[in-house]
Formats: sequence, structure tokens, C-alpha cells
Amino acid sequence: MKVSVDRSLCYGSAECAHRAPAVFAFEDGYGVVRPGAAESAEDPRVREEIREAAEKCPSQAIVLGE
Ligand code: SF4
Repeated sequence: MKVSVDRSLCYGSAECAHRAPAVFAFEDGYGVVRPGAAESAEDPRVREEIREAAEKCPSQAIVLGE
């Protein structure tokens, strides 16, 4: 699963880092994807956390791909 954060949309609510802490971190006021985290997210629970984080991101800044 590919995942990224569009910084031009992110306004730094930090919700992604709380919902999926294995994948997202909060740095310099933005949500960021931890290096290598998404590629290793084959665990269905982690994938679900990523999907939920994307769905609940208040600015729809999380971009998912396969
Ligand atoms: S939940 Fe969305 S707006 Fe909030 S820090 Fe993460 S990417 Fe940015």
C-alpha cells in the first residue's frame, strides 16, 4: 500500500499520528509518513488503521494507492 501526505492540504491536526502511530508521525507541524512504514504495512490491522486515518483526516490530505 502506498501512502503519502499532501502537505499543501495538511493543516497539522496530528490525528493521523494518533490513529496510526506505526505509519504516521507529526513533524514540524505536519503529518508525515514514517520512512518505509507504508511499504511494510501488509498487516491487515495496520492497513485498516491507514484507511481510517485517511478517511478521518479533516483536510483529506492523506493519499492512498495500491
Ligand atoms: S490528520 Fe490530516 S490534517 Fe491532520 S496532521 Fe494528519 S494529514 Fe495533516
